Amino acid sequence: MDGGWQDKAGVIHVHSRFSDGAGMPASIAQAAARAGAQFVVLADHDTLAPLREGLEGWHGPVLLLIGTELSPDSGNHYLAVGIDREVPKDGPPQRYIDAVASQGGLGFIAHPDYPPPGQYPLKPFPWTDWTAEGFTGIEIWTYSVDWLTGVTSPWRLVQALLFPERFVDGPFPETLARWDELCRAQWAKGRRVVGIGSQDAHGILYSYRRMFRTIRTHILIAWDWRGDAKKDKALVLEALGAGRAYVAYDGLRDATGFRFWAEQGSRQAPMGGIINRKDGAGVWLRVRAPIPCRLTLRSSDGVLIEAESDALDHRVAAAGVYRVEARLASPRGWRPWVFANPIYVR
Ligand SMILES: [Zn+2]
Ligand SMILES: [Zn+2]
Repeated sequence: MDGGWQDKAGVIHVHSRFSDGAGMPASIAQAAARAGAQFVVLADHDTLAPLREGLEGWHGPVLLLIGTELSPDSGNHYLAVGIDREVPKDGPPQRYIDAVASQGGLGFIAHPDYPPPGQYPLKPFPWTDWTAEGFTGIEIWTYSVDWLTGVTSPWRLVQALLFPERFVDGPFPETLARWDELCRAQWAKGRRVVGIGSQDAHGILYSYRRMFRTIRTHILIAWDWRGDAKKDKALVLEALGAGRAYVAYDGLRDATGFRFWAEQGSRQAPMGGIINRKDGAGVWLRVRAPIPCRLTLRSSDGVLIEAESDALDHRVAAAGVYRVEARLASPRGWRPWVFANPIYVR
């Protein structure tokens, strides 16, 4: 097994009353505690006011981190966390991507691929500037966007509120394809593209507590929480920045314990990690799931191997970017469940 990681599930991209959400940060932390999440990344539109009000830190069992969502009217929304000062959202995205990085923050492209108007009931805010570089990663699965995409009439809205899981289809295929392409292109320059799962939760129509049980981003950290907000924040940001994380639809089944790592001799690399093929020898890629599921190992070129099991071991000889998806059996067929960050083999 890959040594001793602590697996912590968090909810990312949550709006509070500091912008257009329904709840105050402390009650959002409470909702996360009741939903079993262990950290929250708040991302109010274009403000860090809750940070200045001292609301970041431990709220009971939940670590509340305060970021912001840079939200230009035309789209190109960008989640920033680990910064202390607001960044202007004017100008091309490269300007605010660089400004977030210059504060030492992490930045994630928010809901990159909104469905086309007509398939989506609200105003779409896609990411359009794919020439930009230097972001930490992208949201590969945004619960609210996935869920709302199927709400095309008032009757469908009633159904979606009663049976939300029927409206959850998984990451958009175009977003996963884009992620693979970005990983390949950025890795050629020595950079990762970290995939996160997000909520874009507002606490409207769909309560925070209920949504916090859906799509989470799990991080792997080397130590358990220290109980010190500053140190624990650093643990979360380090893991997210390194891509030592996976996205899981915990609403189907809590994925805690899911692992994907690479081995070469006595050396290991966890998800998000980099590993060398020594003397041209291959690298073992290993996956372990908490219950049997359909595991798919992919390179940026497509599917390498699939297995219905709780374990998958596969040796690769070629350098490349490798990632894993898991789907769970259900009466409605195979449901998207886990999307792990890639391992970079060189
Ligand atoms: Zn947005
Ligand atoms: Zn948002």
